[in-house]
Amino acid sequence: TGIYHSLIRLEGKHKIPTTTNLDTATFVISQFPSQEQAEMKVALIDSATNRRLTYGELRRSIHSLAAGLYQRLGVRKGDVIFVLSSNSIIYPTICLAILLVGGVLTTSNPINTESEITKQVLDSGAKLAIAAPEAMHKLLSTKVPIIVTTRPVDGNGVSVEELIESGEPMELPENKQTQLDTAAILYSSGTTGTSKGVILTHGNLISMMTLLKWAAETTSSIDDIFLCFIPMFHIYGLVFFGLGLLCAGTTSVLMNRFELKAMLEAIQTYKVNNIPAVPPVILGMVKYNGGDYDLSSLRSVGSGAAPLSKHVASRFREKFPWVELKPGYGLTESCGAAAFFVSSEEAIARSAASGGLFPTFSAKVVDFESGIARPPYSEGEIWLKGPTVMKGYLGNEAATSETIVSDGWLRTGDLGYFDEDGYLFIVDRIKELIKHKGYQVAPAELEAILLNHPHILDAAVIPLEDEDAGEVPMAYIVRATGSELSEDQVIQFVAGQVAPYKKIKRVAFINEIPKSAAGKILRKDLRAHSKQNIQSK
Ligand code: AMP
Repeated sequence: TGIYHSLIRLEGKHKIPTTTNLDTATFVISQFPSQEQAEMKVALIDSATNRRLTYGELRRSIHSLAAGLYQRLGVRKGDVIFVLSSNSIIYPTICLAILLVGGVLTTSNPINTESEITKQVLDSGAKLAIAAPEAMHKLLSTKVPIIVTTRPVDGNGVSVEELIESGEPMELPENKQTQLDTAAILYSSGTTGTSKGVILTHGNLISMMTLLKWAAETTSSIDDIFLCFIPMFHIYGLVFFGLGLLCAGTTSVLMNRFELKAMLEAIQTYKVNNIPAVPPVILGMVKYNGGDYDLSSLRSVGSGAAPLSKHVASRFREKFPWVELKPGYGLTESCGAAAFFVSSEEAIARSAASGGLFPTFSAKVVDFESGIARPPYSEGEIWLKGPTVMKGYLGNEAATSETIVSDGWLRTGDLGYFDEDGYLFIVDRIKELIKHKGYQVAPAELEAILLNHPHILDAAVIPLEDEDAGEVPMAYIVRATGSELSEDQVIQFVAGQVAPYKKIKRVAFINEIPKSAAGKILRKDLRAHSKQNIQSK
């Protein structure tokens, strides 16, 4: 039939709960180790301060914060709460308290600019913001009430820390959620255009938590130490560290941000066993030849969020022969992981694959022209279906119906194929999206900024391959007649208006942007041109 199904069936305690009235937080907390063990077992460790939080403390802090949000800040069912922070030991508490009180979580990268953040606050309809002190100023112009994560030095204003300490756990009767209710709105540009709110329901998240718990229990042990530098504002970090691994009862060491030496040091200090990583980190480990660190505890490194080159993977395996390297694949719209490897033998045997389908997923490889599902080894657009696929894009029916098509299939915008054993190979990206170190950069957003320049008549932004970042944004520009606008001027013009990871790195001037009869930018032609003619600096 041209439909691929996951060969893995979830049995017994790993079956997805069908209870209708269940919210993500109640589900996650119900998976914590039993009362007695919860007081002993460490859930989270802050690598900077060595502060530890047991599962028992975590549960109490979630309940206290939920009570504080309800009583002191008046949060009610359906209220959207904007979280602006890098990783911290209280990030999971914040997410779970919001979900427990019936709120809807939306997150953003704290290095985004004030205007990028304001746009998301407005689009998501946020009623309250929770921000790290250093990012708070970017929210001031939104007029949304703000609470800070850590207690302010001057003692003024409400903080999460204070709410956790003072909140009396209480019943929250009015806020009962169903699995159909919205739990989170994360932002992704999807296959085209600018950033859109991806609506994830409690059902989506609970399904993903069940799958991750199953995966953790199948591939690692409850005594394993995981290292987290993947940001929890992104789906990858949120579902793994904010929620999923807490269901598996393991311990996670948190880093505020990624830094190679700090990571190697943390592996040594905490005897880390598992790291869900991204390709630039794996490349960094391959290239590093500085000090000696004891990495013997390391057993498994995952790779997601962007393509991992076959060459880098094989160099990693040569340098760290005792470490399993397991690439995976997923997207915000599928609530994270959609394909992964159970064992490293499978991964080594198919070194360019991104794994087999995650349990509960079905997939099709669809031919662009005919729309027909294709057999093994034939390329086409990857379509996915399963209980974790998003409900749609917030307030954007057109984008939703273009992305979730007939019978609930999610169009991923990724080009790939399956082999006859059901392993997924991602070959290329057909959607516009640029992935810089795993972060999303939407070309449409940069094009809109470029078109505001008085000397720019037309512009198109495409990904340019880059060894360290995977891809960097590159612009093709049509200058106004007589203009002598330079590459550097274009780069500076955009740099002042976007977050650092979205900056344009290369510019080429052309006479005309190639477009289809319908006026769509022919990005493929520009990418082919850049591959031949342009080097990343
Ligand atoms: P995001 O929603 O930010 O997680 O981005 C999802 C996109 O990242 C996917 O649609 C792919 O284009 C890309 N991606 C994720 N994992 C892989 C992978 N293993 N290989 C190639 N591209 C990937």
